[in-house]
Amino acid sequence: MPGTILLVEDEEDIATLVRTYLERDGFQVVWASRGVEGLLALEQHEVRLAILDLQLPDADGLDLCRAIRQQSRLPIVILTARDEEIDRITGLELGADDYIAKPFSPRELVARVRAVLRRAEPDAAADEIVLGDVAVDRGGRAVTVNGNPVELTGMEFDLLAYLIDHTGLVLSRERLLDRVWGLAFPGGTRTVDVHVAQLRRKLGRPELIRTIRGSGYKAVAS
Ligand code: CA
Repeated sequence: MPGTILLVEDEEDIATLVRTYLERDGFQVVWASRGVEGLLALEQHEVRLAILDLQLPDADGLDLCRAIRQQSRLPIVILTARDEEIDRITGLELGADDYIAKPFSPRELVARVRAVLRRAEPDAAADEIVLGDVAVDRGGRAVTVNGNPVELTGMEFDLLAYLIDHTGLVLSRERLLDRVWGLAFPGGTRTVDVHVAQLRRKLGRPELIRTIRGSGYKAVAS
């Protein structure tokens, strides 16, 4: 299920806490401390869910929520210190999917994020994805080839899941770096090549991930 989450929150301590817990759970986090940065980040990243603080230095989170809703069905979780019911109701009326009051438990936040994603993306609830005789169990983060377990590192697992999710599509090294590693990753695209090579070796199915010269990689069904 993991993917990229946009966190719009001006308080650094809270942002760091939320980010830490989400990343620990496998999500990538794009953090924006202002509303305008948040909207920009939505254009630059393939975001699966947005967490919006209501009180921002340059915007009201409710306006941000409204602006996002005008453009997309992106799942939205509102985060706020204001516990007034009016905000909760307005937020939900504006199309937010859930609402969490500060102070909150980061574990609960992660659980709520997952629940919202499950509701918003029923397909993503399919925990197992399969390509040929390679089966990826996202929940258990386990991979088997022809029924035999294969040990992968966390990054190898995420890369494989992303490739299989996009079977048939040519994915550039830059896109893979961005989506699987996150923008913060300082390494070059060479890292992608190294991980693909490792995946091919460990899976023993080199034909499954094809190199597309000058373009990137593609998972293929046969
Ligand atoms: Ca705030």
